[in-house]
Amino acid sequence: MDKSLTIAVIGLGLIGGSILKSLKYKSYELIAIARREETIQKAKEQKLANVYSTDISVIKGADIVFICTPINKIKTMIDNVIEHAKPNAIITDVASLKGFVMEYIDNLQKPVKFIGGHPMAGTEHKGIDSALDDLYIGAKWVLTPSNYTSDEDIKILKNIINSAGAKAVIADAKKHDFAVGLISHMPLFLSQALYSYVSSYPDEEVRELALKLAASGFRDTTRLAATNVELAQDMIINNKQNVLSASEGLKESLTSLENLLSFDKEKFIGLIADIAISRMNMYSEDGKNKLL
Ligand code: NAP
Repeated sequence: MDKSLTIAVIGLGLIGGSILKSLKYKSYELIAIARREETIQKAKEQKLANVYSTDISVIKGADIVFICTPINKIKTMIDNVIEHAKPNAIITDVASLKGFVMEYIDNLQKPVKFIGGHPMAGTEHKGIDSALDDLYIGAKWVLTPSNYTSDEDIKILKNIINSAGAKAVIADAKKHDFAVGLISHMPLFLSQALYSYVSSYPDEEVRELALKLAASGFRDTTRLAATNVELAQDMIINNKQNVLSASEGLKESLTSLENLLSFDKEKFIGLIADIAISRMNMYSEDGKNKLL
C-alpha cells in the first residue's frame, strides 16, 4: 500500500460512505466531500476522513478521486472534478453502468486519467447511515480503463480496491452493461414484477392471506424491489435495451420450464435438481460468489 496517497471521495452515500469506512484504518489521507452539511456532520461524527467539505475544490490535493454520486449526476460531476483536480490525478467513479460513462470520457477534448469503476456490492438502502465497513470484503470491483490510463494508474487503483477488501476485474464497458443487465438490472425488474403481481392479486381474500403468510422466500426474492428508487430508475432506464433483452430471455426460460412441468414431469424434476446443485455451488457459505 502506498501510504502517501491522498484519496478524495465525492458523494457520501451507501457506496461512498462505505469506501471511506473500508479505507479509514489503511493509512491513506482521506478527503470526504458531500453535497449537504448534514452528511458532512455525520461523516465527522464517525471520523471517516481527515478533511471534510461541501466544496469540491478541496480535491486539488488528491491523487485519486472517487466519484460516488447518483448515475444521473456522474457526467456533471466528471466535468467538475476535471476542473478542480490536479492534472495527474487518477479519477474513477462507481456508477452501476459503464458504457455511457466511458463514451463521455472518450469524447472529451482533453486527455484525463479516468478509469471507470463499479463495485459489485450494495444493499437496497441509501445514504451515509447505511454505509458499511465490510461492504467490499470479498466483492468484485469492475474496472473499465479509458484510452488515457496507464498500467501504472490501474495498478495504483487496484491496490486501493484490494485495501478495501475487493478484487478488481477488468472488463469492456459495453459487455459490463450487458452482464449487469443479466445479473442485476433484470433481476431488479423481475423483483418489481413479482411484488407487483402478488400485491395486486385480484382475489382480495387470497391476496391478503398470501401477503400475511409471506416469509423469507418472498422477502428474499423481492428484496431488490425495495432498492433506492433513484438508483433503480437510473439503472433500468439507462440500460433499457439490455434489460428488455434479458427479460425476453427470462420469459423464454419460464416458458420452457412451464412446458416441462405440463408435459414432462421426469425432465422437469431432473432440471430443477440440476439448477439447485449449480446454484448451491455458486456461492460460499458466507454468501460470496466462488467464481474467481
Ligand atoms: P446514495 O446512498 O443515495 O448516495 C448518493 C450520494 O450522492 C448521497 O450521499 C448524496 O449526497 C450524494 N449526491 C447526490 N447528488 C450530489 C451532488 N450533486 N453533489 C455531491 N453529492 C451528491 O446512493 P449509492 O447507492 O451510494 O449510489 C451512488 C453510486 O453508486 C451510483 O452511481 C450507483 O450507480 C453506484 N452503485 C450503487 C450500488 C448500490 O447497490 N447502491 C452498488 C454499486 C454501485 P447527500 O447525502 O448530501 O444527499
